Amino acid sequence: MIDNSDASRSQTFMEKYDVIIVGAGPAGSTAAYYTSGLRVLLIDKADFPRHKACGGGLMSSRDWHLELENYAKIKDRLTTFSCEAIKIYWDCEYIANRRFKHLFDQISRYEFDNLLLEEALKKDNITFRKFDLQKIEKTTLEGKGGYVISDGQDSIFTTCLIGADGIHSKVSKFLGNPPPKRHQVGYCLECDIVCEKNDLYVHAVAGHLKEIGYGWIFPTASGYQVGVGIVRKPKHNLQYYLDNFIEWTIEKKILPVRHEIKRTFGGALPLKVVKTYCTDDVLLCGDAMGLVKILTGEGIYYAMCSGKIAGLALSHNRKNLKKTYKKKMRPLIWDTFLTPYIPPKILTLTFWTVFFRIAKIFDRLAFLSGLNLFVDYFIHMTMHRKKFNGQSFYRNEEIEIEKY
Ligand SMILES: Cc1cc2nc3c(=O)[nH]c(=O)nc-3n(C[C@H](O)[C@H](O)[C@H](O)COP(=O)(O)OP(=O)(O)OC[C@H]3O[C@@H](n4cnc5c(N)ncnc54)[C@H](O)[C@@H]3O)c2cc1C
Repeated sequence: MIDNSDASRSQTFMEKYDVIIVGAGPAGSTAAYYTSGLRVLLIDKADFPRHKACGGGLMSSRDWHLELENYAKIKDRLTTFSCEAIKIYWDCEYIANRRFKHLFDQISRYEFDNLLLEEALKKDNITFRKFDLQKIEKTTLEGKGGYVISDGQDSIFTTCLIGADGIHSKVSKFLGNPPPKRHQVGYCLECDIVCEKNDLYVHAVAGHLKEIGYGWIFPTASGYQVGVGIVRKPKHNLQYYLDNFIEWTIEKKILPVRHEIKRTFGGALPLKVVKTYCTDDVLLCGDAMGLVKILTGEGIYYAMCSGKIAGLALSHNRKNLKKTYKKKMRPLIWDTFLTPYIPPKILTLTFWTVFFRIAKIFDRLAFLSGLNLFVDYFIHMTMHRKKFNGQSFYRNEEIEIEKY
C-alpha cells in the first residue's frame, strides 16, 4: 500500500544529511573541517562574520598548527597581537610576573571564527545555512534512524548530530542535561579599548573585589581588552565590577587616561562538563559540553580539539562512536578540570587564596634563588602548554622574572 499522507509526502521531500552540526563557532567549524566522506550541514543562528564575547587569547598558539590543520591554514591571515609577559595580582595586590618566549596570541573572534568557517566551507561535502534550531525529534525515515531538526518553519533530517551550539546548547538539553547551576557558570563583561599602549604585559587579577573569578587586561592590536569574570551570581551588576576594574587600571598606569571604550560585551562561560556528552549518534563539543578550563576560562583550544575529535570519530569510528568519543575526550576533560570531582566554586576559591598568599612570600624570596616553583608551576599548568617537546616553538625556553 502506498502511503500518501501529508506527513509521508513532507518526509519524502525533506532534506537529508549524514551529519548536522549545530553552531559554527570554533568547535563546529573544526568538527566540520575534520569530517570526510559524509554529507554535512553546518548551521548557525547568526550571520557570519559575527562577534562573540571572548578575550580572544589563543594560549600557547605557536604550537597549534601541529595538531589543528584548519588553524595552520588560517594563521598567516589572522590579525594577532603577541603577548609574552604576565603580571598576576591577588585582589589588586601585585604578586609576581613572568616573561616567556610567547604566552598567547590575542585575536578578534569576529575575524577568527569567520576564517575558520571559510576554511571548513572550502570542503565539497560541507554546506552552511543560517538556521536557528528550536526543536529536535528522534525519528525514522526510509528505514533509517535519525533526527529531524526544525527552526519552527523548515525541517531537516540527519542521521547524526553534533552539538557545538555554545553554553545554552539546545542539543545538550535534548540529551537530557539540565541547564548549568549558577555556581557552574562564569559571568563575564568585557570591553575593547582603543588607545596608545604604554604597557605590554598581560595582567590577571584574581579575587577582584573579593569575588571568585578574575579580571584581565590583554594588549590587542588596537589597544587593550579589559574584562571581568565572576563565578556564581555576583553581588553587584557586572558593569559595577568592570567600571571599578577600569578605574584601577588607570590608577596603576596600565591603561592611559586618554582612551576610548569601543564596545562592551557580556557573555557566560560553562565551568562544568555535562553528564551526557555523547550517545551513539549525538556528540557534544566545546562550550556545549562545558569544556572550558575552570581556572582561566580558556575554551577556544578545547572547542577546536573536541571538534576535531568529533569530526574524525563520526567519519571513521561510526560503529563504536560513543566508546571512541569518550576515550578520546578523557584527556581533554582532565586538562580543563584538573580535579573534576571538586566543585568549581570550592576549588577556585581555595586555590586562588592559598596559592597566591603563599606565592607572594615565595616570590619575594625567589630573588635570592631566582626561582619560584609555585608561580612557575601554576602558570605552566593553567596557561602555558608545552605538548610537543621535539617540534615545539617553546622548547629550550628560559622563563624570565623581572624585578618589580
Ligand atoms: C568573556 C569571555 C572571555 C573569554 N576569553 C577567552 C580567551 O581569552 N581564550 C579562550 O581560549 N577562551 C575564552 N573564552 C571561552 C571561549 O569564548 C569559548 O570557550 C569558545 O567560544 C567555545 O567555542 P564553541 O565553538 O564551543 O562555542 P561558541 O563560540 O559559543 O559558538 C557557538 C555557536 O553556536 C551558535 N548557536 C547557538 N545556539 C544556536 C541555535 N539554537 N541554533 C543555531 N546556532 C546556534 C551561536 O550563534 C554560535 O555561533 C571566553 C569566554 C567569555 C564568555
